[in-house]
Amino acid sequence: MSSNQPVGVGDFVLLDKIDLENFMNNLELRFKNGKIYTYIGEVCVSVNPYRTMNIYDNTYVNQYKGRELFENAPHIFAIADASHKVMKQQGRDTCIVISGESGSGKTEASKIIMKYIAAVTNQGGQKDIERVKNILIQSNSILEAFGNAKTNRNDNSSRFGKYMDIHFDFKGDPIGGHINKYLLEKSRVIYQQNGERNFHCFYQLLLGCGDDVLKKLHLSRTPGDYFYVKQGNATKVNTINDKSDFKDVTHSMNTLDFNKDEQESIWRVVAAILHLGNIEFANKDDKLTVKKGGAVDHVANLLRVERAELERALCERVIAARGDIMRKEHTESEANYGRDALAKAVYDRLFGWIVDRINSAISVDESNYQYKYKSSLIGVLDIYGFEIFDDNSFEQFCINYCNEKLQQLFIELVLKQEQEEYNKEGIEWQNIDYFNNQIICDLVEAQHTGILSIMDDACKMTAEKVTDELLLENMDKKLKGHKHYCSRQLKPANKQLRHKVDFQITHYAGDVTYCINGFLDKNKDTLFQDFKRLLYSSQDQHLKIMWPEGSQHISETTKRPATAGTLFKNSMQELVKNLLSKEPHYVRCIKPNEMKSPSAFDVERVKHQVSYLGLVENVRVRRAGFAYRQRYDRFLKRYKMISQFTWPNFRSGRDQDGIKIIMDERGFDSDVKYGKTKIFIRSPRTIFALESARNEL
Ligand code: ATP
Ligand code: MG
Repeated sequence: MSSNQPVGVGDFVLLDKIDLENFMNNLELRFKNGKIYTYIGEVCVSVNPYRTMNIYDNTYVNQYKGRELFENAPHIFAIADASHKVMKQQGRDTCIVISGESGSGKTEASKIIMKYIAAVTNQGGQKDIERVKNILIQSNSILEAFGNAKTNRNDNSSRFGKYMDIHFDFKGDPIGGHINKYLLEKSRVIYQQNGERNFHCFYQLLLGCGDDVLKKLHLSRTPGDYFYVKQGNATKVNTINDKSDFKDVTHSMNTLDFNKDEQESIWRVVAAILHLGNIEFANKDDKLTVKKGGAVDHVANLLRVERAELERALCERVIAARGDIMRKEHTESEANYGRDALAKAVYDRLFGWIVDRINSAISVDESNYQYKYKSSLIGVLDIYGFEIFDDNSFEQFCINYCNEKLQQLFIELVLKQEQEEYNKEGIEWQNIDYFNNQIICDLVEAQHTGILSIMDDACKMTAEKVTDELLLENMDKKLKGHKHYCSRQLKPANKQLRHKVDFQITHYAGDVTYCINGFLDKNKDTLFQDFKRLLYSSQDQHLKIMWPEGSQHISETTKRPATAGTLFKNSMQELVKNLLSKEPHYVRCIKPNEMKSPSAFDVERVKHQVSYLGLVENVRVRRAGFAYRQRYDRFLKRYKMISQFTWPNFRSGRDQDGIKIIMDERGFDSDVKYGKTKIFIRSPRTIFALESARNEL
């Protein structure tokens, strides 16, 4: 089939009858014919093709550049272009929100958008703009190396949330950017479920670096030698070439002017974490020691800290009590816990440092005079998708809460505001029902009564006495009867709640069973002070500045830092506020099957996603009896040539009057309503007829 042939309808609002079945049929028909994009008005629905599509080259870029959505077949380029156009022409900040479950294609979509923007800008070929474009694109491979990993849902799963602002000058060319990152899933550094891997960078280093570097880092080529990266039994992944990825990352680091010293520091820290995972403890004559083997030496050497200090920080901690300073030896399990906490914290700070470093490479150069003109920006949001694993912990809880917030934003902006538009335009219509997930957001984030609050209360109690089980009991007490919460205690008959420590949240996208074990620790997110001081003492200047709080003396009392949950909640609320201040564009990604197959369309799985994403309701609201609406000026521009009253020029009145003449002339008057600024058309056939009238000219 030729690529320009329409398959099904390109916009779901043009369906004759709107229900789940018709929606699904159209989506499947289009997917099977290689049409992965379909609109709902200005929302782009994208189905992951799981194969390379030849629809992103320059021919396509030129086809979409500067065009209106309806002028071309549906494509994510059109969304990127619309966003860029609004920003450029109206000077308004816009954002593109990409959502969908893990593996549905969000990260790929965000990269396609960035490449499109790079392709249509800087026609003048200015060197500094070219540099910014390069950095924007190349930063992806660095971020993915350190922030993505193979999971059981996706071989390249984002394990952090990313929001990227791209700043443009008054000509619409990119002059800089800024990346915000959200909660990295750092528990992956020390543990992976079966079939999963640690972050890509570990394998890239082991397989990709030169022999001399490998030797300097005291490493072997075999990931299986390192406990922290082998637990998932999946060190080798077919779709991933770690060796060549290492080259790409190095190339990107060079492009971003990471100097040799910085790059060496980064890989030394990565190597240190690999060795750290191999450290074991032993109890000898009632004294805890580090088991023999080179690991501790290597870690000390790579982190540029004193070996004795490292060993001491691993085996005991210093406590200040009533003015006295004492040492307290760890138990073996405390030591294991401390080592793992150290690995997680060091990696998390390294990731944060890398993001800061990228930001400093693309920050807008304010000193340049031309940037003083007001510039606008496009924000691109690509965050970890909703996920359900066999074992779900605090990280999944946060990730899924984040997806609830994004769904809430979609409801607020698309479902609610659409309906408000009819009111605003003075058009009569019938209310459409949709599931509002505010109730689930409240369950997680409400002050005093939400799960995060209950968790924080538990963390404030004296550490020794509070256990995860006690926290669960508290949650049960406070949330009993909530429609979206249950636990084994409350509902013993629920088969999914297998263990005493399980609780379940009915998310908008489905039921997820979480195991409470580890919630308190992960929420508290503490690292023994001793480690902080140790890292601050490092001779590696880059590592040292990642640990400013290590300069504090032991006797100084520190304020209890905000918990991980609260920090995450605050960052989500800020993100939502930020997105609300911009004109949004949406890409809704759908995963067609679980096998990563380019041909399989798993109807049940897709139907589930279409349902929870509220896509059919989206079509209904969008249509509300009107298949199509358009601003008067744009509509007239599109169709003025089909009437001699308006062609070549319509001078005798308002745009709306010209349109009325066209519609009356063609006998469409009864199918149309005139709002205050837009025309609303009921039947898709009217649009088809207008389009063919245009084509027949
Ligand atoms: P997560 O939430 O786990 O980060 P995601 O939604 O970001 O998931 P991606 O990593 O973008 O998912 O996509 C998963 C895989 O699907 C990609 O690695 C790629 O193989 C394939 N894929 C997605 N979109 C496309 C596309 N437009 N063309 C070709 N392949 C694609
Ligand atoms: Mg992703």
